[in-house]
Amino acid sequence: MHEVLLDDECGGELIELTPRCPKCRSPRVESRHLARRFGGAIGAIVGTTGGVAAALAGAEIGFLGGPIGALLGVTAGVVIDGIVGGAAGCAAGSRLGDGIDRNILHNRLCRDCGHAFSDRA
Ligand SMILES: [Zn+2]
Repeated sequence: MHEVLLDDECGGELIELTPRCPKCRSPRVESRHLARRFGGAIGAIVGTTGGVAAALAGAEIGFLGGPIGALLGVTAGVVIDGIVGGAAGCAAGSRLGDGIDRNILHNRLCRDCGHAFSDRA
């Protein structure tokens, strides 16, 4: 499975104070953002899917106005709703994942000793 690179496209990196490794006190600690990346990717997929589904539902109504109207409605609706839904879903998912990273997962990884730890250990 290839990595979905949505992290920097929806909100960017948060400025964070870098903690020190609780094991070796090294400042060379990196954030893994596991849940945040996962949440952003899932959110984008769900948001895009939801947006497209909403656009297609609107298109069914559009058929009542004739095939040309439906075609225009589908094209514009899918593109716009997909983009808006994807961006909103990505942002929401990233925010949710960020909270999970901070509170639940071992989000920090020491580059010197490889020790993984949480922000609120
Ligand atoms: Zn360490």
